[in-house]
Amino acid sequence: MRTVAIDAVPNYGDYCAAAKVLTSALDTEHLALNYFELAPGETPSRGPHAHFDQSETFVVLVGAVTFEVGDPRETEPESVVVTEGEAVRFEPGEYQQAWNRGDESATLLALGVPRDSEDVDLLRACPGCDALTTQQFEQEGDVLLTVCVDCGTETGRFE
Ligand SMILES: [Zn+2]
Repeated sequence: MRTVAIDAVPNYGDYCAAAKVLTSALDTEHLALNYFELAPGETPSRGPHAHFDQSETFVVLVGAVTFEVGDPRETEPESVVVTEGEAVRFEPGEYQQAWNRGDESATLLALGVPRDSEDVDLLRACPGCDALTTQQFEQEGDVLLTVCVDCGTETGRFE
């Protein structure tokens, strides 16, 4: 048995109120387990994305979270509000991004199965291409960069 105090797990980024990886703290062998607290206007993702090798389930513990569902290059994403005590599951290949669109803080757990996902399509607005494009991650010291795979433009820096 392993226990973990979520408060004691360090944040891995400062782009939302709290982002904590519980996978390693609990040594979960088959499950990716992440905990997020979102202030109004925040998202746990760097953009709309799909995992082609993982299903993702989100459990909303506090407040309400809006999921924008669908590939935004093809269609206007559908907004689905998931509230405290509810959960939502995305199949491999479904594009989604969570947002706190409310006025109150929201807390959610993200459960990914299988644990390790390498086939991810993350989309961000690229000023070089003037379009949403697939991104790759690059590490620059402590800073995580998102870079357009089509033209090499840096589209985001996450500390
Ligand atoms: Zn580009």
